[in-house]
Amino acid sequence: MQDAQNTIEPQAPARKTLSHGVKSLIALCVLGTGSALAGLLIAGPSGQNGPGAAEAAPAPPPLAATLLTATDIQPPAAPLQTASGTLARRETLTGLVQRLGAPAGEAASALQTLYDEELLDPRRLLPGLEAEIFLDDGHLSALNIKAEAGRNLFITHGADGKWTAAALNARLTPQYHRVSAPIDTSIYDAALRLGAGDQQVVDFATVFAYDVDFQREIHPGDSFEMVYETYTDEAGRPVKTGNLIYASLNGQALNRSFYRFTPSDDGETDYFDFNGESATKFLMKTPINGARLSSSFGNRKHPISGYTRLHKGTDFAAPTGTPVYAAGNGTVEWAARRGGYGNYIIVKHSNGYKTAYAHLSRYAKGLRKGRRVRQGEIIGYVGSTGASTGPHLHYEVYINGTPVNAMKLKLPTGRKLAETPEMLAEFEAARDAIDTIRTEQGAGTLLSVSLPSNPPSP
Ligand SMILES: [Zn+2]
Repeated sequence: MQDAQNTIEPQAPARKTLSHGVKSLIALCVLGTGSALAGLLIAGPSGQNGPGAAEAAPAPPPLAATLLTATDIQPPAAPLQTASGTLARRETLTGLVQRLGAPAGEAASALQTLYDEELLDPRRLLPGLEAEIFLDDGHLSALNIKAEAGRNLFITHGADGKWTAAALNARLTPQYHRVSAPIDTSIYDAALRLGAGDQQVVDFATVFAYDVDFQREIHPGDSFEMVYETYTDEAGRPVKTGNLIYASLNGQALNRSFYRFTPSDDGETDYFDFNGESATKFLMKTPINGARLSSSFGNRKHPISGYTRLHKGTDFAAPTGTPVYAAGNGTVEWAARRGGYGNYIIVKHSNGYKTAYAHLSRYAKGLRKGRRVRQGEIIGYVGSTGASTGPHLHYEVYINGTPVNAMKLKLPTGRKLAETPEMLAEFEAARDAIDTIRTEQGAGTLLSVSLPSNPPSP
């Protein structure tokens, strides 16, 4: 049954050697209730629960219950012990498995199976990755690595003494989630409290980075709406979020909405307004990770003095380390210290435009003079180097060598779908589908949505 519900990656030999018991283990762990299995195993045939087993075993979903039959679970000779934990910073996966109680040599050889079969890249492990080990009389008998949302890796020790690895991907069902609220402190705070993830908020800020000065043009009482994909597993539990498909900002400074769409002629995914005009412009108005701006509205009046002599740009107060983006495609003309500007980058664009970024704490890895950069690429990080009294980005735009007010520029825009009627028709169908989703999710009650009074801690 689990074969119908889950896809096993092409480890054909491994699949043959999996026992019924292991299959059950896999099925249960995929459902996220590995500890429930441990509880059942500890209970054994006599039905005596091990210490803590009852509370460690949440009610398994119906699917798990049907998978778990007496013939599937072979009572082990000795009760399996289980332990789980997450990867710490600068810890190796072998280190984690050892820390959970597995002998060093067994941990290393079990994990080597994953690397040999290229199920996991040891150089790309992130802190927080979860591992669960099953010990039999002090020896490692199985290992479950939660590689990412919806993807588990299992390593089991066979009777022949060999380790067998298998990857299981839960079958995920896409759904949509809509959040909207007044902006009381920041879009970031409000969206996260309503269940959106970091990525959705960053995407939202990026969509509007061409139009909005996030530091000065968001006001208390403005509101936002976003619709994004969510994926649930077989048991209906949300496991991860996906693309932002709709972004809307309704405020004093502007009132705009964008729909995610990929025109079939060029395959370039972008966000388009109701009439099919791309959100993208020649340069970004907020060339900084806008999701991290304006954690309080007071930031907009960040008093920075002491460098008025240099002042021909726009300041964005943001925490040190906030990513700074290339405002447009171009070539790096300068990436070095420059007097009161501190660490300074100049990017040369087409049509006589240049953008410049001052007071950076550091440059992006590999950034140097002569390198080509793409719009939205991280080129450096906010800092307070040079003549600066606090961390902020000082952003300048030059046209043919003359500084101009970046916030008041009328810039060339991106694609207009109306110029290709077939693409406009495609877009309108996609747009209407998104609007239907919005309606089903309660759009139209935008301003009546209130934030939960007890926000869940992140
Ligand atoms: Zn400035």
